[in-house]
Parts: sequence; structure tokens; C-alpha cells
Amino acid sequence: MTRKLLLFDIDGTLLDTGGAGGASLLDAAEEVLQVSRDDLPPLDLAGATDAGVIKKLFNDAKQTWVAERAQAFHMAYLARLRHRLHDESFDGRLLDGVESLLASLRGHDGFVLGLLTGNLRRGAELKLQRFGIDHHFMDGGFGDDAEHRNDIGPFALQRMIAASGQTFTPEQVIVIGDTPKDIACAHALGARCLAVATGKFGYASLSGLEAWTVLNDLSQTERVMALLQGH
Ligand SMILES: [Mg+2]
Repeated sequence: MTRKLLLFDIDGTLLDTGGAGGASLLDAAEEVLQVSRDDLPPLDLAGATDAGVIKKLFNDAKQTWVAERAQAFHMAYLARLRHRLHDESFDGRLLDGVESLLASLRGHDGFVLGLLTGNLRRGAELKLQRFGIDHHFMDGGFGDDAEHRNDIGPFALQRMIAASGQTFTPEQVIVIGDTPKDIACAHALGARCLAVATGKFGYASLSGLEAWTVLNDLSQTERVMALLQGH
């Protein structure tokens, strides 16, 4: 049978790290770039990629981006993220309906689940593992693949084809995300976007961007399942 490919964004769509992700990026900036977080402009993380954000941090700190230093930044960020995700002050959560939706999708053989996220692959794993939901996703495209979100889609698609042993036409692919950049990324891939207003952008601001569907959240499992199963 032909299955649909669902490509999930992480932050603002599946979960909220309660600021742990952004804080860990700033920790790494202080450690690797020798700059105070107070001297940096606010991070704009919605729909961004870690590679893009890190390059901008180098620029904001007036430092030259070179691959080895970027790698050192990645390592520092991931170490800080691991720490913050398991610190007693951690204030993150899975977003409404996510657990129930993933359980329903798991019991349904019509879908293949992957990721399309700006997180570094290892950062994505750490965040999903924190909530015990990493096993739902076969593979995906990540923030290590490209600096711009639209360029990550093809990586996600190719890896999911390899992992699932099935090819997917654009009509069979649904990107699920919380920002205008997720909608644009879906369009770049020729796919549909199910946009959810659980991140920084409200229902009104996501409407009118030609998403296939906009929902306030993923809390109505049966309704979401019916939408995903429809044509
Ligand atoms: Mg997001």
C-alpha cells in the first residue's frame, strides 16, 4: 500500500524546550566565541536552522566562521543542551495532543514518520529523547544539512525514501510545522503543509500563507487523523 510521508518540525510543533535550546546556543557562544550573551542581539529561532543561527552568532560576535570552530560550537552547544534538558530547572513540555497523535499514527500503517527540522541531528535526538518520542521517527533532514530551511527538505525526502524503501510523490508528503518558514519549505518541496499555531505564530498570522490546513494545535487527535488520512 502507498503510505503518506509526514515530516515533522520539532520546536513549537512537537515540543517546547522552555527556552533550553536558545539558552544553550548562547552558552556555546559565550564559551566558544568569548562574547557575553548580553552583548548579542536577541536570537530569532522560529523556523531558523541551527547552522544559520550559529553562522549569525559568529557574525554578531565579529568572528570569522570557519568549519573547525563551527564544529567546536556544535559540540559546546550539544553538551549544554544535554545538561539543560536534564537540569531540575528544565521547564519544557510536549505540546498539546502530540503524545496522543503519535500513538495513533504508530497504530496506523498508512503513514511513515520523519523529521524536517532546523535542529542539528544530535540536538533533535536529545530533545526528542528527553520526552521519549524519538523512536517514532525513521530519519529526516536536519540543521546540519543546510543553512536555509528550504534546502533541508530534499535531504529529508531522500533519507526517508532510503529508510522506508518507498518513493513518495509530492502529494503524498505533508510537512507539519509552526512557522511561515515551514510553510515555505513545504512549498519548496512541492508538499502540503499542516501548520499549527502552537509556536510563536498565531492562527491568524499562519492563515493566508497558503498552508494546506492551519490548526490551533494538534489536540483533537481524531480530527487530525481524519485530515491526514484524507486527500
Ligand atoms: Mg518550529
